[in-house]
Amino acid sequence: MLLNKRIIKNRENYVSDITHDFRSPLTSIRGYAEALRDGTISRDDQDKYLSIIIRLSDRLVRMTDDMMALNKLSNNSVLITETCFDINALISESINLEELNTSAKRITVRTFLSEEAAMVYADSVKIQRVLMNLIDNAVKFSFDGSNVDISTALQDDHVLVSVRDYGIGISEKQRARIFDRYYKTEHASLPATYGSGLGLSIVKEILELHHQTITVSSEEGKGSIFSFTLPKARQAGQPCQAT
Ligand code: ADP
Repeated sequence: MLLNKRIIKNRENYVSDITHDFRSPLTSIRGYAEALRDGTISRDDQDKYLSIIIRLSDRLVRMTDDMMALNKLSNNSVLITETCFDINALISESINLEELNTSAKRITVRTFLSEEAAMVYADSVKIQRVLMNLIDNAVKFSFDGSNVDISTALQDDHVLVSVRDYGIGISEKQRARIFDRYYKTEHASLPATYGSGLGLSIVKEILELHHQTITVSSEEGKGSIFSFTLPKARQAGQPCQAT
């Protein structure tokens, strides 16, 4: 009985946390839109506030996507569609999609990719989600003007992918919880980091579906490295499957 009550209480907390996460960007969007309509914002500043509205809306879309993705992953009938593809190419594509976020914080994404194509056997759509969530976090928790490094290394049966940032880092206590659903930290220094606390749990579930692992090493104030493996695909000319 006690246990049941605790679960219900936690669920109530989740709902109020999520409501809060949606409410603050929505309130800002409404405020800016009203100010634009009433002419409180000068013509010169209009573009700036419209860009803020677009950024806040993007964040809300991303949070809704995260919740939907997790719902689908929790459903046991989730399908993974594995193909052979070059993870280096998918990394480059994902970096382009993050352009808006990275340029807003003047972050340079540097790549250290294996010289040969890094052919893996996996679900490319889901792995792109893994990459985007990790890059999104790396940017979000980085200091303005710093670097984010993405590397791939060919191992015997696997390709190792790492996303490194030089941002705020994660304490040992937090590291134990960051892959939990809805776990997120508040950072006074980063007021605009509206997150759902779902990104890393999605990352973990997708990699588990592929029977792969993710590790994190981090130092507070210095940055973090998230690394995960993917199975190498067979060489060209052979049927598309893991080695
Ligand atoms: P969200 O980013 O939406 O808060 P995540 O599940 O992606 O949720 O991350 C959970 C928490 O893990 C974050 O709130 C943050 O405290 C921590 N975290 C994740 N990635 C990083 C990172 N690269 N640097 C510092 N902290 C991070």
